[in-house]
Amino acid sequence: MREHLAASKRTEFEYVVACRADWSRTEFLVHLADDVSPEAVGEWRTAAAQLSLGYPAEYLTGRAQFCDLSLDIEEGVLVPRSETESLVERAADRVGEVLQSSRPLVGFEPCSGSGAISLAMADRLPTARMIGVDIDATAVRCALRSARRIGVTDRVTFMQANVLCSWNGFRRFAPAGFDFVISNPPYVTGERIQAAIESSPREPVHALYGGPDGLLFYRAIVERARRALRPGGLLFLEIDEGLEAAILKMLYASGMTNCRWFKDLQGLPRYMEARQEQ
Ligand code: GLN
Repeated sequence: MREHLAASKRTEFEYVVACRADWSRTEFLVHLADDVSPEAVGEWRTAAAQLSLGYPAEYLTGRAQFCDLSLDIEEGVLVPRSETESLVERAADRVGEVLQSSRPLVGFEPCSGSGAISLAMADRLPTARMIGVDIDATAVRCALRSARRIGVTDRVTFMQANVLCSWNGFRRFAPAGFDFVISNPPYVTGERIQAAIESSPREPVHALYGGPDGLLFYRAIVERARRALRPGGLLFLEIDEGLEAAILKMLYASGMTNCRWFKDLQGLPRYMEARQEQ
């Protein structure tokens, strides 16, 4: 059956089979010689067909690996990307370096999707609290399920809300302002959205499309973060190549300080950081 798949999908197929059977890679190879029941053949055929149709392997296993965590994922929720792991690593290091406090720090994540960023930040900052907000009910459900399974519901919560609307309702989580805001909002431009859909046709477009110029969510986040951050609070954003100049301008115009961007492993502008005035 594996042979009927395009070469690029074979590794994914093997991963899905191994994952569902709870086998390691070595166990998978050992079991290759097993007799297979007709039910298993049917199940694997379906999996192979779904992969061919562009379903990410994570939708078939129900799990996505992110940082050191295994997260719940289901169809309709954007699969966390490996480049976002570096956003978390950088942000957690910076928060640890810059924001010393005797009380627990509180972070806010607009457009939290699967909850990957909030859960990984909470994992790296063991006393921090995180509030993640997303418009998509399926994403919020997945994020809450992951938080329960990982055992962090006392520090991490997710809510369904539109981040383009007012954030005043979230102030009760941090009356003196959030210590940091972190986000990987939808940022694909009108010009690039068709290619993004073609490269992953089963993932939700609303988690990718950032309006014609890709800046729709950044405008809202920068403006609201400015009011929601406490003095000296930090803002971390994932961005796309080509948006860095416009977002930098937006940050400075809003009065944020220490605004800079960083490249990802491919050498493309991917991360942005700014600080609220002290
Ligand atoms: N990097 C993602 C992709 O290429 C886009 C994520 C986003 O829009 N925030 O699919």
